[in-house]
Amino acid sequence: MLDNKDSQSIWLNKLKSKEPIFWLNPKLDNRLSPEVTKKEIEEASQRLLRFAPYIQKVFPETQESNGMIESPLLSIEPMKDYLSSTEKITLRGKLFLKCDNMLPISGSIKARGGIYEVLYLAEKLALAKGLLQLTDDYAKLAEKKFRDFFSGYSITVGSTGNLGLSIGIMGAKLGFRVSVHMSADARQWKKNLLRQHGAQVVEYAGDYQQAVDGGRKKSENNPNDFFIDDENSMTLFLGYATAARRVEQQLKEQKIVIDSSHPLFLYLPCGVGGAPGGITYGFKEIFGEHVHCIFAEPIQVPSMLLGVLTGKHHRISVQDIGLDGKTAADGLAVGRPSKLVGRIVGNLVDAFYTCSDDDLYELVNQLYQIQDIFVEPSAAAGFPGVYLAHKSQEYMNRFTKKSLDNGTHIVWATGGNMVPQAEREKYLKI
Ligand SMILES: *Cc1c(COP(=O)(O)O)cnc(C)c1O
Repeated sequence: MLDNKDSQSIWLNKLKSKEPIFWLNPKLDNRLSPEVTKKEIEEASQRLLRFAPYIQKVFPETQESNGMIESPLLSIEPMKDYLSSTEKITLRGKLFLKCDNMLPISGSIKARGGIYEVLYLAEKLALAKGLLQLTDDYAKLAEKKFRDFFSGYSITVGSTGNLGLSIGIMGAKLGFRVSVHMSADARQWKKNLLRQHGAQVVEYAGDYQQAVDGGRKKSENNPNDFFIDDENSMTLFLGYATAARRVEQQLKEQKIVIDSSHPLFLYLPCGVGGAPGGITYGFKEIFGEHVHCIFAEPIQVPSMLLGVLTGKHHRISVQDIGLDGKTAADGLAVGRPSKLVGRIVGNLVDAFYTCSDDDLYELVNQLYQIQDIFVEPSAAAGFPGVYLAHKSQEYMNRFTKKSLDNGTHIVWATGGNMVPQAEREKYLKI
């Protein structure tokens, strides 16, 4: 038996040598942190409900969902057959795709946290000013007097792209002035789109960390500016956490039971950790030990894995172990994990794994060909988890064969719908 230290250095060496790994987290204990309460997640869900009439009014694509920003949960059995045959294993249970690539307004998972934080801020300001009551029909926020009021404030955010899009589009719609500080990884089309929506784009030659630091510094001296801190925001976290209640409902609609003999597995692409962390927390709060959360990261950027493995969380970056942090998965190109997520969910994640850019490109293509669904490379990172989990005998031994046959696997597709056609064609071999 290896002691912890030996085992840690073996895994560290694998990360350094850029070998794809599937690491079972020894810190898993399923204990919910007292830092986040059920009441807070409920309040966040209620806040989104209050805003639904406004969202429905100003974003016509949410007409059908009554102003709820939600995505389908789709059965993808043909994709399961493909993974089984190429990996030469029997995948057990059902396979679903959570289509956050199709989320309205900004086409990525950031529409959950990012838009939520902008709404939270708008509500707080309007309530304090006496322009709004909690019992009002929030459709009134579309009136000119609100836009005029919000234009006295600005919002600043640092982003590799998708968070900036969510906050830029939502913030500008309400009337805020928005400035988005973007890293070198950020795609040009994302910058163009933001400018079209009226956001100011500040470009950095450096990485995500530099963009965030730059934004934070700029915001500090301006009392009318609000900095949305992707590395440290509990509000973003709560916005993501509300996803679990929605999926609980979708599972019920599809008559899928989750309990001790019907486990649920979630495969979540991870960047700074906010989105997968908030979602994990929300699911654990509902399903406890019956939900199994598995985080995906690129081989060059295993930041959350590194933080949890070493216990150093945000005090270590992938550059510290000699990785360059460069990846085609721009949404995951974050070298240093969040200051709060590892601490709050480090003990709630079953496993972490890494995947190569080549695998991501291949999966983007297969998903498109087999299911006619387009996702961006970051959003395909959940797929390898399904077969890596099955290939880990040590992991599979935790479950009975019967419960595995009754299990449900959800690959969380995190973005794609905003990608312009010309960009899609570069990813797709068509
Ligand atoms: C941001 C993002 C993620 C990961 O979310 P984090 O909060 O950064 O961990 C995954 N996929 C896509 C497409 C993203 O934009």
